[in-house]
Amino acid sequence: MIFDNVLKCVGNTPCLALKLGKNLIHAKAEFMNPSGSVKDRVAARIIDLAINDGSLRPGMCIAEASSGNMGISLAMAGAACGYDVTIYMCETASVERRNIMRMLGANVILTPAHQSVGGAVEALRVDAASDPNLFLVNQFGNKENILAHYNGTGKEIWEDTGGNIDCFINGIGSGGTMMGVGTYLRERNPDIRLIAVEPKGAASLLGHKPKLHSIEGIGDGFLPDIVKPEYIDAIQEISDAQAIEYARKLARDKGIFIGMSAGANLAAAEIVMNEHPDWRIATILPDRAERYFSTQLFAGQPNIVSKGRTAA
Ligand code: PMP
Repeated sequence: MIFDNVLKCVGNTPCLALKLGKNLIHAKAEFMNPSGSVKDRVAARIIDLAINDGSLRPGMCIAEASSGNMGISLAMAGAACGYDVTIYMCETASVERRNIMRMLGANVILTPAHQSVGGAVEALRVDAASDPNLFLVNQFGNKENILAHYNGTGKEIWEDTGGNIDCFINGIGSGGTMMGVGTYLRERNPDIRLIAVEPKGAASLLGHKPKLHSIEGIGDGFLPDIVKPEYIDAIQEISDAQAIEYARKLARDKGIFIGMSAGANLAAAEIVMNEHPDWRIATILPDRAERYFSTQLFAGQPNIVSKGRTAA
């Protein structure tokens, strides 16, 4: 197939059947999207609609607060469609994220670590009040975020698995994936259970306060407007160490190179599977490990041996 714009390559990702413990789980390989994450679906939909309905006009600047991946997806979309992009991001987001956005031509504004992603949202709100040239994406309140996953990810998972699903498990960042996929699946089978994954001790769905953690992309420190907690049947908290363990395990045992939130989803899937061995589980692998070279995910990797090196 030949495409004339990178945004047309978004979606229709492969679904992997992974043997975890005794059972198979189905995992949607969202890291196969063109900028490398699940957020390409949301950026492509919102930018495409906004160009078509005239709300994004030539010369405007696309602006968003992001834990990083939405920023990268928007930087890609802006470059592909000829718009400037400014991303507000918490300073704890990996340096790889910043560099990818800059390479794609976006401006990056960093906000304080202790405020989590909420600080980035607030900084953008303040700047937007005096700048009518900004096109505000508003992933945390924009229903198109949910629809990107309802029409895309959710429909694809249903078709990939032939509807053979009892439970969908996924981490909550903006919550768009959980709400969109969850709604699509529940409309077809109201008995499907939805289990949200949250960082241990930083679960907004359990009323926890923002806290520093390593599972980038989820646990942003507040409950986004588009999330309906009553939709969710259970919350599985996962520690940084568990998320990292599963991300490493997938790389070593299966050759699949994924980030920490994907590791957290798989850790949660194995816990749920042990409690309910008869459930057929689907989940998401939101992004790939290259985005985290500078983080704990790669700390202390033991399997490098130097022989006859000339440089220090
Ligand atoms: N994992 C990663 C790596 C992400 O970047 C995101 C998006 N912030 C998510 C999971 C969660 O996706 P959503 O925003 O749809 O809840």
